[in-house]
Amino acid sequence: MAGQQQADYYSVLGVAREATPEEIKKAYRRLARTLHPDVNPDEEERFKEVTKAYEVLSDPRKRELHDLGGDPFSTGGGFGSGFGFSDIMDAFFGGGGGGARGPRPRQRRGQDALIRVEIDLAEATFGVTRDLQVDTATTCPTCQGGGAAAGTSPRVCDVCQGRGEVQQVTRSFLGQVMTSRPCAGCQGFGTVIPHPCPDCGGDGRVRTRRSLSVKIPPGVDTGTRIQLTGEGESGPGGGPPGDLFVEIEERPHATFSRRGDDLHCTVAVPMTAAALGTTVTIETLDGPRPVELRAGTQSGQTLTLDDLGVTHLRHQGRGDLIAHIEVHTPTRIDAEQEELLRRLAGLRGEDGPDVGHVTSQNQGFFNRLRDAFNTQR
Ligand SMILES: [Zn+2]
Ligand SMILES: [Zn+2]
Repeated sequence: MAGQQQADYYSVLGVAREATPEEIKKAYRRLARTLHPDVNPDEEERFKEVTKAYEVLSDPRKRELHDLGGDPFSTGGGFGSGFGFSDIMDAFFGGGGGGARGPRPRQRRGQDALIRVEIDLAEATFGVTRDLQVDTATTCPTCQGGGAAAGTSPRVCDVCQGRGEVQQVTRSFLGQVMTSRPCAGCQGFGTVIPHPCPDCGGDGRVRTRRSLSVKIPPGVDTGTRIQLTGEGESGPGGGPPGDLFVEIEERPHATFSRRGDDLHCTVAVPMTAAALGTTVTIETLDGPRPVELRAGTQSGQTLTLDDLGVTHLRHQGRGDLIAHIEVHTPTRIDAEQEELLRRLAGLRGEDGPDVGHVTSQNQGFFNRLRDAFNTQR
């Protein structure tokens, strides 16, 4: 066993190395009675150490390992199952491992609340103020959160005399052990409300619907949460309120898809216009914007309109609007149009077979298109 220094449990319990199990048990009982946290709260650490020593020395296999200089609490040794250290501690501390004493306050902080709000893209871009109806628990106006009916007041619990907990003496292998648990007569509050407020049943809160105006800043996105401090549920017993979280859900836009703070759209142009050059007007969130398509515009090309995207939430400025050009080839042409196209093809030397050429996928139009649409938000 590699050199971790460990306590000599014989000296912890104050017994000789050859002590009998009976002597070890006696020594532990004696120490436990004086060190037990119910008797002596300041000695909790020593009590734990003594208990640990007892666990080892009372188990012949662990004692043997300890005598050989090993660590009976290491997990590798096949020990530690069955009657564990934490079981002993639970027996003493009632599972809570110590903790606060005395009555618990009736006043507690209220829970946080969550409400979802749907907005559209323009609202996400420019911000919006929304009036919301919120169903929450608010402090009972009849009793002001105290929970007692008018003219009455809570009185001290006569089961626990206001301590909020009851002590119980149990017999165990250690002798008599004192444990404490929350008082059932008052649920641990130390007081009871003999005449609860008729409007809230003693909870100090009632459910109400109230309206609330929420300012949604520019730049929010689906999943953004706005925290409104103190607008959540009121706490029981007149306690302070929790927070209200407003979670944004952005409706999809008919034209623009949002990736981060950039907006993307597709601009379809006829083959002839793409070849000759043209102007297209895009109905942006900021109004119509004419966009020049140069002669010879290709399908898959993109045009970026700076600062017409969504406002950045955490820093200055806005994203861009990116138009993806899609050149449309005519599908139904009449005889005259066909004649013109054939003449054009002839003039360009494009009327024979094999005028197309095969390229790698990496440069192909479909690839660029796919990249453009698969860009992660
Ligand atoms: Zn009330
Ligand atoms: Zn009580």
